[in-house]
Amino acid sequence: MSNDEQRQARHQRAMEKLKSHVDERVASASEERGQLLILTGNGKGKTTSAWGTVTRALGYGYGVGVIQFIKGEWECGERARLQEDPNLQIATMGTGFTWETQNRETDRKACEAVWQDAARMLSDPSRYLVVLDEITYMLKFGYLDIETVKQAISHRPVEQTVIVTGRNAHRELMAMADTITEMQETRHAFNNGLKARRGIDY
Ligand code: ATP
Ligand code: MG
Repeated sequence: MSNDEQRQARHQRAMEKLKSHVDERVASASEERGQLLILTGNGKGKTTSAWGTVTRALGYGYGVGVIQFIKGEWECGERARLQEDPNLQIATMGTGFTWETQNRETDRKACEAVWQDAARMLSDPSRYLVVLDEITYMLKFGYLDIETVKQAISHRPVEQTVIVTGRNAHRELMAMADTITEMQETRHAFNNGLKARRGIDY
């Protein structure tokens, strides 16, 4: 056998092994239901990943809800592009919560108001996917109560998937999640003085 043939034979054996491993795992995944996904960690990509999944679900004509707990009044390219889709409902924090408001009472009220939209979507079977973008901070600041959020998520329609984004996700939410992805910051342009870029960062 030539070197190339030996290499091909090795490759084929490895692929057969991989295929049987993947087939086994596919066969053993039999449960079908909506999932709870948490996208957390310090690295970039949490919100973009959530919107990627929104696009994916809309692509099949599913009903989607997005609740933006922080960046409501900020520019946001994905929202601008997708908001015309009749299958997408978007709720944003009314008073435009930012790090600068620093008024607990107005922020708490704004949060409570947008939570009503979230609670409605979390009980609406026509929402195949609901994104709770940056909700982790609302829990951290104590604007939302973890029990209320847990209840709403655990009583959601069985076919509904929920995506939670934000740093420092609450451990009780993590305990409920089906999938958790921690975005690991290896490097971020911002730390080298690069400005957030339109169409890339927002
Ligand atoms: P993105 O929206 O780009 O997916 P993200 O949701 O993972 O980011 P956030 O903390 O919500 O992260 O980001 C808010 C803004 O800060 C975004 O414009 C994002 O590009 C930027 N950003 C994300 N990670 C970092 C970081 N480690 N340092 C500085 N800026 C960041
Ligand atoms: Mg984000």
